[in-house]
Amino acid sequence: MNYISTRNKYNISDNNFSKITMEGLAPDGGLYVPDNFPFLTSKEIYKMANLSYSELFTEIIYKFCGSCVSKSEIYEIARDSYKDFEGKDLAPLNDYNDNIKILELYHGPTLAFKDFALQFLSRIFNLFLERDNKNINIIGATSGDTGSAAIEAFKNNPRANIIILHPKDKVSEFQRRQMTTIKANNVFNIALDGNFDDCQAVVKKLLVDIEFNEKYNLASINSINWGRVLAQVVYYFYSALKVLKHNNLESINFSVPTGNFGDAYAGYIAKKMGLPINKIIIATNSNDILSKFFQTGIYKVSKVVPTLSPSMDIQVASNFERLLFECLDFNPSLVTKYMTKLSTHGSFEISKEILCELNKTFIGVGVNDHITIERIKSCYSEKNIIIDPHTSVGLEAACNSNLKELCIVLSTAHPIKFSTAVNKAINITPNLPNKYKNIFSLKEKYQSMPNDLNEIKNFISINSSL
Ligand SMILES: *Cc1c(COP(=O)(O)O)cnc(C)c1O
Repeated sequence: MNYISTRNKYNISDNNFSKITMEGLAPDGGLYVPDNFPFLTSKEIYKMANLSYSELFTEIIYKFCGSCVSKSEIYEIARDSYKDFEGKDLAPLNDYNDNIKILELYHGPTLAFKDFALQFLSRIFNLFLERDNKNINIIGATSGDTGSAAIEAFKNNPRANIIILHPKDKVSEFQRRQMTTIKANNVFNIALDGNFDDCQAVVKKLLVDIEFNEKYNLASINSINWGRVLAQVVYYFYSALKVLKHNNLESINFSVPTGNFGDAYAGYIAKKMGLPINKIIIATNSNDILSKFFQTGIYKVSKVVPTLSPSMDIQVASNFERLLFECLDFNPSLVTKYMTKLSTHGSFEISKEILCELNKTFIGVGVNDHITIERIKSCYSEKNIIIDPHTSVGLEAACNSNLKELCIVLSTAHPIKFSTAVNKAINITPNLPNKYKNIFSLKEKYQSMPNDLNEIKNFISINSSL
C-alpha cells in the first residue's frame, strides 16, 4: 500500500508506513492517505467476531502497514498498548434504549478515547526509532485531551521529548493538571495565549519549516497523524461486531462527538473497508462548522466560542481535508485551491452533487450548551447513566436523527474530566478514580507563552533532546 499526500498526488515513491507515521504532516502541507483501502467481505468481517481486541486490532491494522511491521509485532504492540485499560472489556457497550447504545471509550489511563490511539502511537514510534537509532522531539497541540493522552503515552520515553501546546485558560483544570503534574524530564507544557486553532496553526508551521524540522527531528502526534486515525478504526469494528449479528441487523449507525474530524473519519474508513455502517452522525457543539457543512455544503470558518465540551471547540477540522480530497476526485490541485480559498476568504462551497453523495453517509447535527445540559440531566434521571458533555452532544444528536436502525454513540470522555458541567446538570460530582485522587494538590509545571512562532522555536531549541 502506498500513501499519498492530499496536496501532491505524485509524491508517492518512498512514502512507506513508517515514514508517514513519523512525519505526521506531508512536507507539502497535505495529509497522508492510502492510495487504496483494503476491503473485507462480510464473511471475512463476521469471522473476526470472536477475536479479542488486540487480535482484531492486528487483523485490521496490519493491512495498512505494508512490509514495515510484521503481524506479530503489531500484535505485541496492541497487547502492550491496551494492558492498562480498566475493566474486563476495554470498550464496553451500555444500553441507552432499544435503538441507542453508548460505547464507553474512556477506560484508558487518561480517561478519554484518545488513549486508544496514543498508546499505540508511542509504541509504534518506538519500534521505528529503535530500528533507526534515532531520537525525536514530539510537538503537539491540544484542546485538552490529546495532550494528556500523549504525555501519558510518551512520558519517560528515552527516545522522545514531548512538547504540548494548550490554549491558556481554555482547558478544564482537571485536563490541565493531567498534563502539568506529570513528573518526567522529557515532558514540556506550553500554555499559549490563544485558542486551539492558534495552537494547531503553530504546530503546522513548525512541521512544514523544513530546516527547523530537520534540525530538531520533529514529529507530530496530532489527529492529523495517520497512525492515530488508523488505531481508532478498530473500535468501530469491535463495537459493530458485538451488535450486528446478535441483533440480526443489516447495518448500524454511529453518532460521533466531533471536533477535528479524526474519530468520525476513522468510522468512515471502517465503512470503506466494508463494515456495514449506514450513517455517521457528525455531532458538534456550537462550533458547528462541520455540522453546517454537511447540512449546506458550505464550509465557513467563524470565531471559536468556548462551550461546555471544550475538546470540540475547534473551527478548522484538520482531518476534514482527507474527506475533501476524496470528494474532489483525489485531485491535489483542487484540494490546494479549496484550502487556499479557505485561508484567504474564510470559506468555500462544494457542489450539490458532492453534498448529496456525502449525505449518503454523513449527517450533521449541532447541539448547543443548553441542550447539552438538558441531555446530561435526562440521561441521568431516566437511565441512571452519567455522561460527560461531549457524549451528551453525541447522544442528543442520535436521539434527534430518527434513524431506524441501531445507533452507537461514542462516549469519548469520562464524566469526571468535565465535572463542572456534569455538576451543573445533575448536582453530582463523579468520583475521582484512585489514580487521580491527589491531582488537585500536585505541583504543576508549565510555561505561559505568547502566540509567537520564534519564541516557541527558541523554547524547543533550548529543551531539545537531540
Ligand atoms: C478530541 C475529542 C473529541 C473530538 O474528536 P475528533 O477526533 O477531534 O473529532 C470529542 N470528545 C472528546 C472528549 C475529545 O477529547
